[in-house]
Amino acid sequence: MTRTKRQLAASLKLVDCVAEIIDARIPFSSRNPDLRKLINNKPRIVLMNKCDIADKTQNQKWIAVYKNAGITALPVDCKTGKGLNAFMPAVRTVLADKIKAWEAKGMKGKTIKVMVVGIPNVGKSSFINKMVKQSKAKVEDRPGVTRGNQWFTIGKGFELLDTPGVLWPKFEDKLVGERLAFTGAVKDDIMDMEYLACRLLEFLKENYPELIEKRYGIRTDDIEPADEETIGCVVGFELLERIGRKRGFLVSGGEINTERAAITVMDEFRNGTLGRLTLEKPKGY
Ligand code: GDP
Repeated sequence: MTRTKRQLAASLKLVDCVAEIIDARIPFSSRNPDLRKLINNKPRIVLMNKCDIADKTQNQKWIAVYKNAGITALPVDCKTGKGLNAFMPAVRTVLADKIKAWEAKGMKGKTIKVMVVGIPNVGKSSFINKMVKQSKAKVEDRPGVTRGNQWFTIGKGFELLDTPGVLWPKFEDKLVGERLAFTGAVKDDIMDMEYLACRLLEFLKENYPELIEKRYGIRTDDIEPADEETIGCVVGFELLERIGRKRGFLVSGGEINTERAAITVMDEFRNGTLGRLTLEKPKGY
């Protein structure tokens, strides 16, 4: 077991529930697949963050999938705080039996403790900051608990515990790594930007062609792949060139600056300028 996993297991004993934050644009790739095993039978609530820049229809579908699995998932936007009012009531509902049992034992109003987990970049800090600000509570560093743990009071009788360490998802699946790179969860390597943008554009051509056509004023329906083997890069690169040409991104000699076009596409996808997009649909839809 890694140090982070050990810390997590120890911290779990201190909480009543786990709030898992995922990126609504990549609900599958942004979750840590070990988490379920690690948290065992602890009640769990899922926060689908960044839902403001994810596809509305897909948000609803994912929430329905979670609901079918007996898990409460809330669409939230931790940048503005939208949806966060539902958080504490939802946790209380998830813990209804436990709260009843506390009350039966004379522990009415016992503090509810929730551990917040999430892979980097999903908005864990934004979530905690927003909840703390809403409650106007002070951040406290309480001694005596596992080192590195930080508790935040977010309401009367409600506390959040920030997870120590970083829980990375598994990168064994190449597509998972790629999608995490699309959203900026893994650090950009400038050398890979053009490749990433090409791959993203291919996905968009198949799934959201109207968005790139509208945003960049280009056609996407008249590109035929040269052959099956090279389909990816050829189509993606052609789109990248069209975008660069349209935007006037040229280098001396009149060649298209595809690197600049790639950076533009990636930035505009990441900050939502390109539109509301979800890269992973629930299976069966
Ligand atoms: P952490 O690494 O999980 O702590 O993530 P941060 O809280 O630092 O957020 C990572 C990036 O995502 C930052 O640029 C945030 O402004 C942005 N972000 C966080 N939550 C949201 C959200 O709900 N919507 C949008 N559009 N951006 C968000």
